[in-house]
Amino acid sequence: MPTTTVFTLIKQLLTKKATNPFPVKYTPDNMHAAASLIESGKLSINPPIKVPPNYRGKLTYDVEACIGCQLCLKVCPAEALAFKPDEKKVKHYVSRCTFCGQCANICPKDCFVLTDEFLIAGLDKYSDDLILNP
Ligand code: SF4
Ligand code: SF4
Repeated sequence: MPTTTVFTLIKQLLTKKATNPFPVKYTPDNMHAAASLIESGKLSINPPIKVPPNYRGKLTYDVEACIGCQLCLKVCPAEALAFKPDEKKVKHYVSRCTFCGQCANICPKDCFVLTDEFLIAGLDKYSDDLILNP
């Protein structure tokens, strides 16, 4: 019904944003070139919106506290964790993670913490910043 649609549109316009705007004010021909301009300070970005409380972003892993019990591997639905038998620690693949938080919930040593960080896109999913304890 048109009236309902118009009402929904107006409501959406007045609702606080839940997603981030595109990072730059125009659509660049080349995103890599735009990224270089951002790094050099020649191009400003739209600041990300504040994340809500209890946001589930990129994990941190406390390698020292880990006792190698492997409970986190058992509950991970995404096979984002691998055991390193020599170290008796785990390796975390950020690119496979669904940020469900089950590993953090079950870990007896609180090794995993879900942070506010969500800017985790990269060209190489095996780069050091996309693998914890590589
Ligand atoms: S947050 Fe979920 S998907 Fe990611 S490593 Fe932990 S259990 Fe696996
Ligand atoms: S559940 Fe915690 S202590 Fe056990 S292996 Fe995973 S990170 Fe280490």
